[in-house]
Amino acid sequence: MSSQSPIKLKIESSIEIAQPHDLLTIHYPATQSFVGKFDGNASSHGNFELGGTKPKIVYRGRKYKLVKIHIHELSEHVVEGDSPSQFEVHFVHIPVHGDGSDPKVVLGVLYKECEQADRLCGDEAIIAPLGHEDGCSTDKDASGPTHSVTPARFFPRLSDSSEPDFDSWYYYEGSLTSYPYSEDVSWFVMKNEAVVHPDETRAFKRCSQQHARGLQPLERRLVLRSFGE
Ligand SMILES: [Zn+2]
Repeated sequence: MSSQSPIKLKIESSIEIAQPHDLLTIHYPATQSFVGKFDGNASSHGNFELGGTKPKIVYRGRKYKLVKIHIHELSEHVVEGDSPSQFEVHFVHIPVHGDGSDPKVVLGVLYKECEQADRLCGDEAIIAPLGHEDGCSTDKDASGPTHSVTPARFFPRLSDSSEPDFDSWYYYEGSLTSYPYSEDVSWFVMKNEAVVHPDETRAFKRCSQQHARGLQPLERRLVLRSFGE
C-alpha cells in the first residue's frame, strides 16, 4: 500500500494551484442545521449520519453530499509543525448520484483549545440531541433523526469575520484511516485550525470516539494547496 492516510502537510512541500475552485467548492450553508442520527456507542465509532437534506460540495465538477461526520481526539493529519492538534473533525462525502462503492471526498478540520475562542455552540451543543440540551447523549430506541448539527460551524473563521473559511486547504489522494484502509479517498485538510473554548472541549471529547492513526509515508504523491506562501 502506498497511498495511505494521514500524512504530514507543509507549505514548503506542497504546490499552489492556480484555480482551486475548479477542484473544490464547499456549499455548506453558514447557519443551517441538518438532522441525522448520532450513534454514540463505541462499536459505531461515534458517527453522526445525516438523515434528511444534506449539504453539498462540488469536487472536479461533480456534486457530492455530506453523509457522515465524526471527531478524532488528537488530529490524524499534522499541519505545519510536528505535533498533532487536539481534535480533527472529518466530513465524509459521496457522489450525489452514486452509491457506497464510489470514491469519497473527506474534509478535515483541525482544532486547538483557545481561551479567546467564541463559544462555538451558542445554545446548541456541537452534535445536539433533538429536544435536549446536553450534547451527544443517545436515544438508542429512536428510529428517526435523533440529533442535529450545523456543519459550517466546525470550520475555521475568515480573519476578522464570523464567516467560515472554506477556501484555504491542502489536497492529496489518500485512504480511509480505519479498516479497510481503502485508497479511494480525496482528502482536503483545512490550512488553519479552528478554535474551541476550553469550556467546550468536554463536549468535543464526549463526541469523539475515533482514535488517531499514525502518520503514513507520502511516497510519490503530490500535495496541492489552494493558497499562496
Ligand atoms: Zn476519521
